[in-house]
Order: sequence, then structure tokens, then C-alpha cells
Amino acid sequence: MTTMLLRQRLGLAIMAPVRRAIRIFDRARSATPSPRESAGHLARRGGAPVEADVHGNLVAALRERERALAQFVDGVPVYLWRLAPDGEPDFLNQRLKDFLGVDMTDAHEPGTSRLAAFMETTVHPDDAARLERVLKHCLVTGERFSMRYRLRRADGLYRWMEGSAEPMRDESGRIVQWYGLCRDIEDQLHAEEALRSREQELSLLVDMVPSNLWRLTPDGETTLANKHMSDFLGLDLGDKSQLETVFDTIFHPDDVEEVSDALGRSLQTGERFSMKYRLRRADGAYRWMSGRAEPMRDESGRIVQWYGLCHDIDDQVHAEEALRRASDKLARATQAASLAELSASIAHEVNQPLAAIVAYSHACLRWLSAEPPNVERAKITAERITRDANSAADVVSRIRALFRRAPGTRSPEHINRLIGEVCRLTADEIAAKGIRVKTHLEPDLPLIALDHVQMQQVLVNLIRNGVEAMDAVAGDARVLQIRSCRDGAGALRVEVRDAGSGFTDAERVFEPFFTTKQHGMGMGLAVCHSIIESHGGRLWAANNETCGATVAFTLPLTPSEAP
Ligand code: ADP
Repeated sequence: MTTMLLRQRLGLAIMAPVRRAIRIFDRARSATPSPRESAGHLARRGGAPVEADVHGNLVAALRERERALAQFVDGVPVYLWRLAPDGEPDFLNQRLKDFLGVDMTDAHEPGTSRLAAFMETTVHPDDAARLERVLKHCLVTGERFSMRYRLRRADGLYRWMEGSAEPMRDESGRIVQWYGLCRDIEDQLHAEEALRSREQELSLLVDMVPSNLWRLTPDGETTLANKHMSDFLGLDLGDKSQLETVFDTIFHPDDVEEVSDALGRSLQTGERFSMKYRLRRADGAYRWMSGRAEPMRDESGRIVQWYGLCHDIDDQVHAEEALRRASDKLARATQAASLAELSASIAHEVNQPLAAIVAYSHACLRWLSAEPPNVERAKITAERITRDANSAADVVSRIRALFRRAPGTRSPEHINRLIGEVCRLTADEIAAKGIRVKTHLEPDLPLIALDHVQMQQVLVNLIRNGVEAMDAVAGDARVLQIRSCRDGAGALRVEVRDAGSGFTDAERVFEPFFTTKQHGMGMGLAVCHSIIESHGGRLWAANNETCGATVAFTLPLTPSEAP
């Protein structure tokens, strides 16, 4: 039921008994004889004392009734009034008189209409003409009167009233009286206004919040979708039913079934809906969303609404994917490092053919030095020397191939970005050891052509060595510093500085198989060295003045890179 309808019904409900009360009140007043009349009446009739008693009782009862009715009319918490058929006010209840501070039924200058005086003194100037027009129309047509207008209170303040009136007719249908009431709705209007502006504020908030918001009935019918969502989908969701019809097209074809199943399950079980899916943007691009919906229940636990939210996580999803790809690359790089280790062990195999070559060389010499020289045997031995030398060369070139990546994989890189990437990749490992990483990265370093994976490999190696070197260091001092800067005009320099044990033999650390670690291979720095060299740079290591060690490398900039 609308507020207006409710108010009208309330008005009517109040009107009927009030009208009846005023009528009875009037009738009672005209029927109640004055004491003098009563005395005269008895004298004229010369009635017996019993009759006088009965009459006296009746008068008393009527007076009591009149008093009760007057009390009712004045006590009822609305303003009551009555008009003659021509519109002249002829009754105001006490409450209305008190409100206005005047009794308009008395103000009666000869030749002036009471109604006109009422309008002039009590109705707000902006409402007077309209009120007069509507009232006159009702007086002429006999239609029910109903409107809002402002009345001037005794203290001079105008207050909004909700007024209504109905005609009373005699048996012939002629209007004999108009009964009206008005209710002070000033506070109600303020409350309504406050409610309206709060509602506007909330709906603005719902529309402006940078997420898609929606609401469903317990059956899954959409009853609200905010502006952000309409704009995102490029649909006018004022017509809520539209969302049902487009359900199949707004989700990515690979997700639609899963979303529909999950949502259906939530609606059925009342469990929270939460999933990631791709939603189609107005421009046709699908973007990853994180969608959630929770049911709202009444006191009995029954679901009355579902409130949902989905926000764009597309960039995040892509960033995660990029990180995963980087992680895969690192895994491959680690694999490559293992291959490097493997190749180192293959290098051992080179010793075998070399040893054989030496042995065959001696044998060859012996055959040639014999008297007479056995040229035939010497030739065979020389052939064996060639064979073993070739196989040694093969091993060497295979190893070299393992260290060297195919050309053309170098691309312009931001060294700082690469450092950041490696820091993220090793973050868990570093954090697990309670080590803090401090980076001092010079901004605006030029792009430099690098093999991304190889450089990752170098940085990971240097960081891991630094981390391992701090194993024996107390918690607070475990700081690993990574610095990037220019090295003169033509190169970049990267330093990894730790606060660990320092080098025991800094001269030998780049030698293959040099290690002081129980499970070390001693190939890490050798591999780093070869990678940096292949980039035209230099790698060196030194102990710090106070504690720990620093391993640094430079990378030359090509003339086009060096601004
Ligand atoms: P591995 O780590 O397998 O031993 P590396 O070639 O990476 O192989 O390192 C060779 C050796 O150099 C290590 O065993 C260690 O003695 C020394 N070293 C490398 N980095 C550091 C460092 N940051 N602090 C102290 N010693 C280091």
C-alpha cells in the first residue's frame, strides 16, 4: 500500500467517527434544554415529581454525553473543522484554535467572508490561491477535498498540514455541511526528506562504488544491479529482467556453466557463492572477476535476499600468470644450471681421451723410434690419437654449447626490473631465513640488451651465495644489499653485498669445482663468470672492509644504449 493511500485511508477512518461525534454534539446541544426551559416545561405541564426526576436524569445524561463528545472532539489528536455548504467555517476544534491562536469562526467582520479571512491570516501565501481553487472546486462539485498546505501557527511559524474534507448530505442529497480535518505533517515531511536524501546518498554510493553490485531474490531473480555494473556490461539494467536474458552471454563461454551451477547450488543450499570467472565487458573483452554473494536472512533464518559483489581482478590474474611464467623460466634456468653441473662432470670425461692421447703419443713415438721404425703401427696409433682428440674436442664443444645459449635471445631489459623479479622469486627462501633485503636501485638506468634467463641465473646465484654465507650470522645483522648504478658513461654495475662470513680464498672462487660447502658443486660462480663474460662484462668478488663479501659485475652499454 502506498504511503498516500495509507494516509487517505487513515484520514477516512478518522473522519467517520469524528463527523459522527460533531453531529451528535450539535444535536445534543440543540436537544438539551436550558435549566430555565426545563423549569418552565415542568411548570407548564404541572407534571408529577417522578416525571420531573426522569426528565432531570435525561438532561443530566445528555449533558454528560455532550461533555464527553466535546472532550473527544477537542482531544482527538487532529485538527477538526467544519464548513457551511458555501465554505464558511463554522466550527474549529479547540486544538485547531490553539494552534492558530484565533477562532476563525468568531472573527466576523460584517460584509467579509470568514473563509477569505481564514485564508488571508492562516494559510501560507504560496499555498492560499491553490487551496482556494481546490476548495471552491470541491464546494461546487461535492468532490472530496484533499491537499497539503501550510498553516500559520500562533507563534508565526508555518507548518505543513495534510487536509481533507468530506461533505455531509441530507436525504435529498443536498450538501448540508463539510467536515474536515488536518494533520500536522511538518515533522513527517522532514523525516521523509531526510529519508529521501539518505536513500539518494545510499543509491549514489551503490552506483559509485568501483565494483559491480547486485541483488537477487531467494529464487535468483535479479532485483538490483548498480550503475558500475550496467556501465561495465554496457547494458541498461533498469529493466532487471534483461539480466536474466543476457546471463548466458555476459560470461565467458568456458565459465558460464560453472557459474550457473555454483550459483544454483548456493541458492539451493544457502551457502556463500564465491568464484572467479570471466565477464564480458561492453567492448567485448572478457575480464577476470572475483564474484561473491552472501544471503541475508530474517530472524527465523529464512533467506530474504542475496547480495552479490564482483570486482575486476584481471590485472592481478595476469600479474600472477607473469610471475608463474617467470617462475617456470627460473625452474628451467635451474635445470640449465644442473646441466651446467652435469657438463662439468662430462668435462671429467675429457680427461679420458686426453690420457689416451698421451698414451698413444708415447706408443707412436716408440714405433717410430724402433729399429727399423714400424711405420705401419705408428700410423695406426696416430689415427687413434686423432680419433681420441676428436672425441675430446666433441666433449668440449658440447660443454661449451651448454653454457652458451643460442644467439638472438637477448632483448632490451630494465636491469632494475630484473632485480625486482629475482627478489620476488627468491622472496620466500630469503624470508624463511629471516634475512632482510635492501635494494638501492638507481632510477632511470638505460635499457640494456641481456639474455633474460641467464641474467636471472646470475642474480639468483649471487643472492643464494650471499644468503648461505649469512647462515651463521645473528638475526638482526642478516641484511643483503643489492645495488644497481651506472659504471661510468658506458656500463651498468650491479653489486650483491652480504654480511656473512666473507671469502676464505677470493682468488679461487671463480675456478670450476672450487667450493667450501659440504654439498657445493663449486660451479655457480664459474657459470656466472662465463655468462657475464659472454655479455662483454666483468665479474669480481671481494671481502668487505668490516664483514661479509661483495660480488659485483658490470655490463657494457652499446653506444645506442648509452645516452
Ligand atoms: P657453491 O656455492 O656450489 O660452492 P659457487 O661457485 O657459487 O659454488 O661458490 C664457490 C665458493 O665461493 C663457495 O663454496 C664459497 O666458499 C665461496 N663463496 C661464494 N659466494 C660467497 C659469499 N657471498 N660469501 C662467502 N663465500 C662465498
